[in-house]
Amino acid sequence: MSAKSAKGAGKKAAGAKGNGTNESGKNPRDYPRIRSALPGPRGLAIIARDEAWTSSCYIKEYPLVIERGEGVMVEDADGNRFLDFMAGIAVSTTGYGHPVVVKAVQDAAAKFLHICGSDFYYESMAVLAERLAKLAPGSSPKKVFLSNSGTEAVEGAIKLARYATRRTAIIAFKGAFHGRTTGAISLTSSKARQHAGFGPLLPDVHHVPYGYCFRCEYGRTFPSCNLFCVDAIERDLLSRHLDPRDVAAIFVEPILGEGGYVVPPAGWLAALRALCDKHGILLVFDEIQSGVGRTGKMFAAEHDDVEPDIVLVAKGLASGMPIGAMIAKASVSTWKSGAHGSTFGGNPVCCAAALATLDLVEGGLMKNAVAMGTRMMDGLRAIAARHENVGDVRGRGLMIGVDFVRDRATREPHPDLSSAVELAAFRRGLLVLSCGKSTIRIAPPLVIDAQDVDVGLGLFEEAIAEAEASA
Ligand SMILES: *Cc1c(COP(=O)(O)O)cnc(C)c1O
Repeated sequence: MSAKSAKGAGKKAAGAKGNGTNESGKNPRDYPRIRSALPGPRGLAIIARDEAWTSSCYIKEYPLVIERGEGVMVEDADGNRFLDFMAGIAVSTTGYGHPVVVKAVQDAAAKFLHICGSDFYYESMAVLAERLAKLAPGSSPKKVFLSNSGTEAVEGAIKLARYATRRTAIIAFKGAFHGRTTGAISLTSSKARQHAGFGPLLPDVHHVPYGYCFRCEYGRTFPSCNLFCVDAIERDLLSRHLDPRDVAAIFVEPILGEGGYVVPPAGWLAALRALCDKHGILLVFDEIQSGVGRTGKMFAAEHDDVEPDIVLVAKGLASGMPIGAMIAKASVSTWKSGAHGSTFGGNPVCCAAALATLDLVEGGLMKNAVAMGTRMMDGLRAIAARHENVGDVRGRGLMIGVDFVRDRATREPHPDLSSAVELAAFRRGLLVLSCGKSTIRIAPPLVIDAQDVDVGLGLFEEAIAEAEASA
């Protein structure tokens, strides 16, 4: 089946249904509100035009055609309003159209849209670099490189790790997502179709099991396993066919994102740190999805108090403006002038949006992520208790995964059900996004309040009930 016809099937499946208000009728807000077929006539016309002209590689999870947004509300081209529990893949940190961010963008745009930050100076680039260097986990002095995207931050880290160590091999994790450029997809291992047809990729990349206790590849149980999976890196890989003196870096997401919103067990990141220290390997934390306050701390690594050698951020950093950052220990960032660069990286309008976003995150949104994350987690656990097919609810702050299983005993993933839940939620006016094999990620803008959490949870449970009934 081609990508296009798969998209078509998804759209048909969405159909038109529900009025988007919660059944209790207690929601006084003017969203969610579904009043046309999904998609409606304007949406359909836009989709037809898009499909005629855009590349066939796009996924298009479901037929949402956005026209504008405000806070946690997204309005489509036909006036339907949705409650957003996915923030455009954990990007819209401050919600849609936050006045502080919009003003920062407008002011910066009015001054100058561009001057190449690799060649010249401007204040916002210096200020953002200083701020990120000081925010990054650990007390070592840091140096910052600004990119346009997460993938480019990963590429920069691959290059810097090789340059700084003069070693070539890289260790990454099964289920990891590090991006789509040729270097970054070599580290990515979440779905085979992301690799198919693109080889040969970067040589000397080795994938090992993540600390995924709910589905342990070694069949062990935490904590009696004593972090068997970390020992296995040494025992099965480094002592057999990969000399640790050839390994430049271990790349790891402190919380697995695309791979299923998996929180590793306590002590796992610290054990990786110890393994790296033993062999002079650099530890790179890809916090492109987990960073910038989403987990209730600026970086997810802070929950475990581990300092990486390089940390990467992007997605949520500028509320949707494209920017990424590679923050490296100064002792690692030894490359010479001209070794790396970018025409647009650290664009002044994006820097302004990032600074405004950081102000808001530090000024209360991170705290809100803790409070609303707890409320969300409690609600989701209560839902899990009522629905057999919810096998696991896990996460930190407002980065929560709901893992659907065919059977609680076997924990076999149930991708048909998670897809059905995603569509049933959409029809009710709730935006969620799947990840991993059969997990729904709950990652709303950090501005969400208790009422929207409760309304969204109500719709989510209705969607689960509908999907279970038809499964
Ligand atoms: C999204 C993502 C990337 C890639 O970022 P892009 O901005 O899409 O290039 C890399 N790593 C992680 C953990 C991500 O979630």
